[in-house]
Amino acid sequence: MSIQAPKGFNDFLPGEQYGWKDSYRWQQLEEHFRKVAGQYGYQEFRPPLVEFLELFVHGVGTTTDIVTKEMFNIVPRGDDPDPRRMAMRPELTAGLCRMYIENGIANQPQPTKIFAFGPNFRYENVQKGRFRQLHQLDVEVFGAQDPAVDAEVIHLSLDVVGRLGLKGLTVNVNSIGCPVCRPKYREALQNHFRPHLAELCEDCNTRIDKNPLRLLDCKKDSRHPAQQNAPVGLDYLCDECKTHWEGLLANLNALSVNYQVDTRIVRGLDYYTKTVFEVVSPKLGAQSALWGGGRYDGLMETVGGKPTPGVGFGMGMERVLMALEAEGLLEGAFPARPRMDAFIATMGDVARPAGLKLLYELRAAGISTDIDYLGRSLKAQMKYAGKQNSRFVIILGEDEVKNGVAAVKNMDAGEQQTVPLTDLVRHIQTIG
Ligand SMILES: [Zn+2]
Ligand SMILES: [Zn+2]
Repeated sequence: MSIQAPKGFNDFLPGEQYGWKDSYRWQQLEEHFRKVAGQYGYQEFRPPLVEFLELFVHGVGTTTDIVTKEMFNIVPRGDDPDPRRMAMRPELTAGLCRMYIENGIANQPQPTKIFAFGPNFRYENVQKGRFRQLHQLDVEVFGAQDPAVDAEVIHLSLDVVGRLGLKGLTVNVNSIGCPVCRPKYREALQNHFRPHLAELCEDCNTRIDKNPLRLLDCKKDSRHPAQQNAPVGLDYLCDECKTHWEGLLANLNALSVNYQVDTRIVRGLDYYTKTVFEVVSPKLGAQSALWGGGRYDGLMETVGGKPTPGVGFGMGMERVLMALEAEGLLEGAFPARPRMDAFIATMGDVARPAGLKLLYELRAAGISTDIDYLGRSLKAQMKYAGKQNSRFVIILGEDEVKNGVAAVKNMDAGEQQTVPLTDLVRHIQTIG
């Protein structure tokens, strides 16, 4: 019997032959994200992978596909005193809100600038090449209304990938208003689309009452004539939303962010207010947003907190690494893979224990070192060390041990010299 990974769940392994699934590249992307977010003043929050289902029902929204079709639910055992259902997190924002509320973070100096990353779980259609475990780099700012923060978040997201070489991206921005002005816009959309319902897809027929904004980004009906002259949300903004929108554009201009206004971006999530954005790569096609985000001033209340403005984004790590690969940038995006400093090759029964002792001495001195564990011949040990890409091979035989020296081969220069064991650390540290 051979058991394979469930469909939609990826393995990540070390080695450049694994392309975007190379675990070294994942590690470097995380490290890079930590660094850039740190430079912008963000600190890491780590929400759990599992929360009570109700958090996502309230925090992500009952009309979203994520909650209605894609949740990985966990049914408690019959003997669990808490009968509430739990779920694998489908995204990070709801859990971060819960953390913010539960830990009283609002009492600390505001705003709270958060970064988080890790796996999310969605029961996606694997036939369409989607993943059920997908990873995100996530940023949230809680407690600030200023459109300069929206611009900072957008700029940060572009900076993360820009520094890896992914440039020439376009940010599509829109404002979807607030609870004051959105009802009028919803009504206008309902009046506009209702006469065409018979020609629109099943989802649109369901959404017209619950979430009419979603009719604008329906993929199936994108070519329907009614889309062409649909009411535009920006025309319905209240004064506060209008001022915020103009502030956002002024800040994006000041930062020289390459943006376009796209009034069809509405995002799939109910809790968004004002700013919504999506980043697309012209090379990868406008249909596939690399990531998106926006403002969600209503979310904190929805999950039981005090009214608190929020803005952020979630960036798919798979998408970023696949985009780098598609553009041939994967090789140069991250620092070169670290090499082993030294490999110890031993000959004979006397040299073996001396080699093992030396192995741990070098490691303790901060030198990455490995040794053969398969009883290989000297020739095979040298070959193995070459495959491991070690900078040095330290050769120990009975004579060397007796004389307190080692034959040290510099694998890059191809030179070999005799070095006293007491001088070995300095020798390896000073060369290369
Ligand atoms: Zn408004
Ligand atoms: Zn539709």
